[in-house]
Amino acid sequence: MPRSIKILFLAAEADPFIKVGGLGDVAGSLPGALRALSHQLDVRLCIPLHNDLKLDGFEIKPVSSYSIMRGGQRVPVQVFETFFAGTPVYFIEGSPISSAQSVYSADMAIDGEKYTFFSLAALELLRHIRWQPGIIHANDWHTAPAVYALHHRLADPHYAWIKSIIEVHNLPFMGGGTSPHLSAYGLHPCSNPHLPDWARHFPLPMALATADAIVAVSPAYALELMTPEFGCGLQDFLRTRADALSGILNGLDLKLWDPRTDSALIANYDGASLERRTVNKAKLQSSLGLHVNPDVHLLAMITRMDPQKGVDIAIDGLRRTADQSWQAIILGTGIPYLESAARSLQDEMPERVCAEIRYDAQLSRQIYAGADILLMPSRYEPCGLAQMIAMRYGCVPIGRATGGLIDTIRGYTDAVSGTGFLFTEASPDAFANCLREALQVFGDRDRWLRLQHNGMSQDFSWENAAKQYQDLYHQLLANKVAG
Ligand code: ADP
Repeated sequence: MPRSIKILFLAAEADPFIKVGGLGDVAGSLPGALRALSHQLDVRLCIPLHNDLKLDGFEIKPVSSYSIMRGGQRVPVQVFETFFAGTPVYFIEGSPISSAQSVYSADMAIDGEKYTFFSLAALELLRHIRWQPGIIHANDWHTAPAVYALHHRLADPHYAWIKSIIEVHNLPFMGGGTSPHLSAYGLHPCSNPHLPDWARHFPLPMALATADAIVAVSPAYALELMTPEFGCGLQDFLRTRADALSGILNGLDLKLWDPRTDSALIANYDGASLERRTVNKAKLQSSLGLHVNPDVHLLAMITRMDPQKGVDIAIDGLRRTADQSWQAIILGTGIPYLESAARSLQDEMPERVCAEIRYDAQLSRQIYAGADILLMPSRYEPCGLAQMIAMRYGCVPIGRATGGLIDTIRGYTDAVSGTGFLFTEASPDAFANCLREALQVFGDRDRWLRLQHNGMSQDFSWENAAKQYQDLYHQLLANKVAG
């Protein structure tokens, strides 16, 4: 076993510097969790120097400047370094990054240029610092070009021994439309015969074909990727890589999400003082204009408004269970037709539905701490954080049996260790039936308390995830993963 494992972790975003979605949580937490797990793990994070990075309070120093080639022209690169909770962080700067307005653009020409540049500049950095990783751990299509380029540098002694991981957070986002930029930087279509033609010049499939290991963000999602329903046309190809594919569930920052200390709550509580949740529930009901009643079932959805999340399924399902006693809070922003659908439900049932169309971190915490049931009828869910947060706060989840929801929610029919409710078909009827079941169980206080306690005692820590990554790194360096 090597004495020290050096890992360069590449991502488009990382909390606390910048966070747009779940990837920001992972890249902000996992490197530190790995370092905390073992002094042997020397993990360094590398992200683009986006224009709107939050750098207040961080000491930033220049590390290196060099250039990479783009179609016969040199593109200058500058690299800066800081430390976050003991983890060295490299920021890559260059005109393709500084000229982009935001972390992600709707224009693939902008993102194609920016992230191909970032990926190759990060790889090139290793020639300019005295630190040589054994593993490059890339995330999603944005950093996939680094994995593909690494594969073509195996004759270069500087890169020959580096193993690569591509982590899949959301397969449908493959980086299509970026091939002119890949070619401009010298990355040509992938020749893997199992890849469909259309995927040969998409960054994510190119990395999936050439990485030493592929990690999905939950074990169930790893299996789903190899099926027609979730494989996005890559299922047959991914089956050829089954030996290299595994799933590791994301962790949750347990300090950040703790009902005992959460300052957003009126009443803090733990598993032994769950009755204090009624104070939070009453405050939530009164502040959102709902009738204050501890006995009515308070349902909640906290979500991006995207078809992926099944917002429409929940809204139609709620209509179908209007004969039941419940109130619902929907907190989210996103695609306008889904926002309007949530508003329409509120207009139809103003006394029992509250649609809060915005991003509100404070309110989300109050909802987790006061609502009885979290609704997550996702069409697909690579991992999902909301259901883990809900369980930690004693809010029982109803989820569709897909991806990370399968791996984190144990069905209530398991009388000993159940933590929530799962339904199979992505339809309003299936959701409504599951909701009816949940409402019935809610009437049995002892049973409900058991579900809450079981959920609160789950170990969703990053430490758990970090141990599995550590094992994977060891296997990779010992050549035990089929590449
Ligand atoms: P995603 O696919 O969007 O990453 P997750 O369930 O993994 O879904 O994570 C979503 C995270 O974003 C959760 O922490 C959830 O509480 C938070 N979130 C989503 N929408 C909102 C919102 N409108 N206001 C506050 N927090 C939100």
